[in-house]
Amino acid sequence: MSKGLLFVISGPSAAGKGTICKNIIKEMDIDLSISMTTRKPRPNEVDGKSYFFVTQEEFDEVKNRGGFLEYAYVFGNYYGTPKDMVIEKLNKGRDVILEIDIQGAMQVKKTYPNGIFIFILPPSMEELRKRITRRGSESLEAINERLGEALKEVSYIDKYDYCVVNENLEEAVDRVSSIIKAEHSRVTEHVYELIEKYKKEIESVKEE
Ligand code: 5GP
Repeated sequence: MSKGLLFVISGPSAAGKGTICKNIIKEMDIDLSISMTTRKPRPNEVDGKSYFFVTQEEFDEVKNRGGFLEYAYVFGNYYGTPKDMVIEKLNKGRDVILEIDIQGAMQVKKTYPNGIFIFILPPSMEELRKRITRRGSESLEAINERLGEALKEVSYIDKYDYCVVNENLEEAVDRVSSIIKAEHSRVTEHVYELIEKYKKEIESVKEE
């Protein structure tokens, strides 16, 4: 059985990665990895769904036993991708999406170079500021920090395979979904397996 594909989605905070990913998993047969974080939950966030909200000690325990595929310190908190769940799904042939920051994505790129890296961009910095402010969970200082960080993050765009501007949510989801479908049509080992199968089948087909 061929392995599932690993999609890594990054982009500035509030560019809309989370919403895009939620829509993708509704529409497609693909799993979203749930990260662990030491950040406190925002209103509406559910433990075990949005994130696994853990203490610093719990996070360090997983980190020290090598339980993260990647982890990073982002805006004053730790975030990490639990390794076992992702590897298990990929081995079972399931596609998995990681919605993670650039530092984490660069770690995944080293250990999992076959991953497909997608960068989500906001239509403008003004729109990004509006979206961060609308969330209402960040102080003015935190908003400015996230905007400054956004500018640094976009300089990593050349490390990614695809870039999608999220001006209109439906259009952005459609583009990401097209990327996922296209990646399944890439010529990789599974195509050679198919050709081997054709070779075996051809004689019986000819006889009919
Ligand atoms: P937020 O606090 O807004 O949910 O997320 C802040 C940033 O952390 C976002 O850029 C998000 O993509 C990133 N992030 C979420 N989970 C992970 C993870 O498991 N690993 C890494 N490296 N970044 C993550």
